[in-house]
Amino acid sequence: MNEQFRNPSDAASHAERLDRLAEVAVRVGLGLKPGQELVMTAPLDAVPLVRRITEHAYKAGASLVTTLFSDEEATLMRFRHGRDEGFDAASAWLYEGMAAAFKNGAARLAVVGENPSLLAKEDPEKVSRANRARSKAYMPALNMIAGFDVNWTIVSAATPAWAKAVFPGDPEDVAVSKLWHAIFSASRVDAPDPIAAWEKHNANLQARTRMLNEKNYAALHFQGPGTDLRVGLAEAHEWNGGSAKAKNGVVCNANIPTEEVFTTPHKDRVDGYVTSTKPLSYNGTLIEDIQVTFEGGRIVNAKARTGEAVLNKVLDTDEGSRRLGEVALVPFSSPISQSGLLFFNTLFDENASSHIALGQAYSKCIRGGGGMSEEELASHGANKSLIHIDWMIGSDKVDVDGITQDGTPEPLMRGGEWVA
Ligand code: ZN
Ligand code: ZN
Repeated sequence: MNEQFRNPSDAASHAERLDRLAEVAVRVGLGLKPGQELVMTAPLDAVPLVRRITEHAYKAGASLVTTLFSDEEATLMRFRHGRDEGFDAASAWLYEGMAAAFKNGAARLAVVGENPSLLAKEDPEKVSRANRARSKAYMPALNMIAGFDVNWTIVSAATPAWAKAVFPGDPEDVAVSKLWHAIFSASRVDAPDPIAAWEKHNANLQARTRMLNEKNYAALHFQGPGTDLRVGLAEAHEWNGGSAKAKNGVVCNANIPTEEVFTTPHKDRVDGYVTSTKPLSYNGTLIEDIQVTFEGGRIVNAKARTGEAVLNKVLDTDEGSRRLGEVALVPFSSPISQSGLLFFNTLFDENASSHIALGQAYSKCIRGGGGMSEEELASHGANKSLIHIDWMIGSDKVDVDGITQDGTPEPLMRGGEWVA
């Protein structure tokens, strides 16, 4: 895929493609409605994209766009010089304010582009305390996002630190340009009419979710090297993929890019063993060759070739962190998988492969789940946790069967591709 980067017309079209990505974020990602407020978060390095998004948002009729920038240098200063007791603190007032904005109808856009190894050399104890405090403080806002109360989306920007992680052998400017290229391509803004390309892609994903919802499988069975895993599905589970309608009635695409169809597993009905097929980049630690065993939905044994201590710390976060909150199917031929790149970023890596997620389930993946209490969701089998961590278990060597309600296996994926 290298000659594309050498194409001299590339530089000239960068601004244009950045603008198209911004338009896709506003029109496809958010489906922003005239009069709607927008709350955006972004890293400082994403300013050029943020400005394009801001312009498209106002052109689409936004009443007010508010952007909160984050600075990774400031985060490092906290870890190097911050007082110890400060690591149990988080800006709860900020997240409460965000939740208040969502209650008043604001849409949410996150631009991501983190340095995947920012905190790799910091004290893991402090990192885990800071993450925990932030997760807790974020709850009022996160519940509304996870519950799909408002239209929201995530897009990414090629920041220098992230680009150097993906392309370590290249000088920074080349790495950034290569990563932008990969983002544009995966986000379908290389197509002559990106909006039309997204309509077609959404229609394909929706045909797939319709089929899976009609089948109403009791379980999925993954088989491959180091994997023999039966993932029971939640009662009244619903498959989602591509665009979906938020509770405020706005149709949006929560992830740009997206290739997955996904649903809620039953928290007590996962059995067998599974081996990860790609490394998991978690807060600066690369966790490779994860092997876990499930019994009655719970991970009873976990190993990893690298990052095992971090993995086990994550699994001990809370009662739900050893159970699954998501199962997703992605064909091996997905464009992100074909790029052969490891992005160290869930937004991309989870769309390269079928995956499972430890932790919190999405209530929108239960029929009527949006209106259910926590107890009702739990009685359907939906898991609850402070974490939601996706890791990849699919490859061209993994087969997937759907198990019907009467126990009959039906082939769904062979060699990593959809059978039908
Ligand atoms: Zn997923
Ligand atoms: Zn997920």
